[in-house]
Amino acid sequence: MLRGSPERELAAWWEAEAVAATKAQAAKEQVRVDPGAAGEPERKAGEEQPKEPVPATPCAAEEGDARIPPRPPPTLPVSLAKPEPASGLCPHGKSRIKGRSCKRSSGQPDEYCSLRPVTVDSSKARTSLDALKISIRQLRWKEFPFGRRLPCDIYWHGVSFHDNDIFSGQVNKFPGMTEMVRKITLSRAVRIMQNLFPEEYNFYPRSWILPDEFQLFVAQVRMVKDGDPSWKPTFIVKPDSGCQGDGIYLIKDPSDIRLSGTLQSRPAVVQEYICKPLLIDKLKFDIRLYVLLKSLEPLEIYIAKDGLSRFCTEPYQEPSPKNLHHIFMHLTNYSLNIHSGNFIHSDSTSTGSKRTFSSILYRLSSKGVDIKKVWSDIISLVIKTVIALTPELKVFYQSDIPAGRPGPTCFQILGFDILLMKNLKPILLEVNANPSMRIEHEQELSPGVFENVPSLVDEEVKVAVIRDTLRLMDPLKKKRESHFPDICMDRKDRFSPVSERMSSLKLQLSKLSIVRSQLLGKPLASKENPPHSDLASASRGNANPDAHLPSICLKQVFPKYAKQFNYLRLVDRMANLFIRFLGIKGTMKLGPTGFRTFIRDVPAGLRGGLLLPGSEEVQDAAAP
Ligand code: ADP
Repeated sequence: MLRGSPERELAAWWEAEAVAATKAQAAKEQVRVDPGAAGEPERKAGEEQPKEPVPATPCAAEEGDARIPPRPPPTLPVSLAKPEPASGLCPHGKSRIKGRSCKRSSGQPDEYCSLRPVTVDSSKARTSLDALKISIRQLRWKEFPFGRRLPCDIYWHGVSFHDNDIFSGQVNKFPGMTEMVRKITLSRAVRIMQNLFPEEYNFYPRSWILPDEFQLFVAQVRMVKDGDPSWKPTFIVKPDSGCQGDGIYLIKDPSDIRLSGTLQSRPAVVQEYICKPLLIDKLKFDIRLYVLLKSLEPLEIYIAKDGLSRFCTEPYQEPSPKNLHHIFMHLTNYSLNIHSGNFIHSDSTSTGSKRTFSSILYRLSSKGVDIKKVWSDIISLVIKTVIALTPELKVFYQSDIPAGRPGPTCFQILGFDILLMKNLKPILLEVNANPSMRIEHEQELSPGVFENVPSLVDEEVKVAVIRDTLRLMDPLKKKRESHFPDICMDRKDRFSPVSERMSSLKLQLSKLSIVRSQLLGKPLASKENPPHSDLASASRGNANPDAHLPSICLKQVFPKYAKQFNYLRLVDRMANLFIRFLGIKGTMKLGPTGFRTFIRDVPAGLRGGLLLPGSEEVQDAAAP
């Protein structure tokens, strides 16, 4: 339970957003309300069986990335590829408006022209490339698809911080994040917090690490069963390095664990299975929420207002020895269920096997569910999970980008997989460091003929997340705001969800026209060159070049709610001390004298006496 202000307060601001989203959903489509998870799952007639899966790639790659071949290397070596000025820009990087020079007719420099565009290196973006390109185009920034000799403002990596050597700017990955969110590391990090704050961290299923804790697992299960013979648990075994449901299986008893050699070579987490999930259309589903870790120090967390809900494709039954192996009933992974004959691709965001989370909230609210409370619990879960991850992340960060050395600053979009229990309590399943940002899916047009087709639901959610992450990270934001002070206000008041729909619609239409041009062999209008009318408005002295954008879909939750959660940041403070000490020694190894000094400093630090310069924790130390 939250201390300080009541937990419900947390969702107060969110309510307006969530309700607006659900109203928009309502206006968008007439959604059938499900009175108690009854009825058949909606099924699109004539849905065809998708192609068999190709073996999954290792999970260091992007989640959901299994069937993507690596991008071909650039045609020019990066060092030779001259950064071409965009067609909408002057050679010196300033905006160029068709038929105009960079000087206004009055001879004064054009205000729009005097701001250079933000530059983004997308050469390592891999499967996020399509969504990233659309985002950059919407922002009218400058993309460098093959890298650039000069530094870029933002580097977009598809896999990890180390995809490329960067010494400046901002990169969309934190060092160590992939390691931190692996199943075993995440379980360990959450367990540390469960030991300190058991009630606050009861959103994560009880887990054991295999093979190390196999005996402990057996003993603890036996102990509980002895005390309560009616307890008939189910457990889920998940390989540490697995993703997309790979290697996962359910068991009823510890003796069912497949020990034969594999556990040594493939460590795993065994976890209590949540037997009573919330069902919609009789189906189990989970939620993919996008969370932006904007900064570690100070801690800044944003949550996307909408996410995705991924549905199972076989009606759910509580686990029994008969159905334990029914993966389409128990596992919600898109990558698995797409291979079920029951998978429904839908053009609507509120039907089919992948839907927006807002459409689920709309259904729930129309059945009388308090969606404010659901959001509030989800926000708490996200903040607490990030708090569990930050101590080690800070140590990784320090070792990769030591203070005082040149290096980029980092931000990262994380994919939180959350299950709602029947009683609506959210449960954390896992965190993905590389959530899939693909905006298309494979469809079998005729037997054996496959094509990648745009996925509306993916595009609606993911492009907004990437675009608005870029907007929040915009290094020229302050400069732009000082150019347009009167109009750079919160766009919330000026844009209705309808305008968002319209911009999405325009996007679809522009995509269609691109496809049509390609089919007809017509030359394409330059993607870098925004429509003349848009630029014309931007060229007016006081026009805001961002005015065409919808309101930001990412909402800050930390430090906004810091007061309610700072008492949980105990280990975080220890990490600050540890790093501070290492900063003095300049080494990652602590000798005995160093350790003595460290433990001498810890108590003072935990009381708030020793804090890193620039740390925001001055008020944090006093736990309520
Ligand atoms: P992966 O990285 O392979 O996707 P997950 O931890 O996300 O592994 O698990 C895969 C799926 O299994 C989830 O999407 C969810 O449907 C189901 N699942 C995982 N853990 C649990 C659990 N503790 N209780 C119920 N279902 C679970």
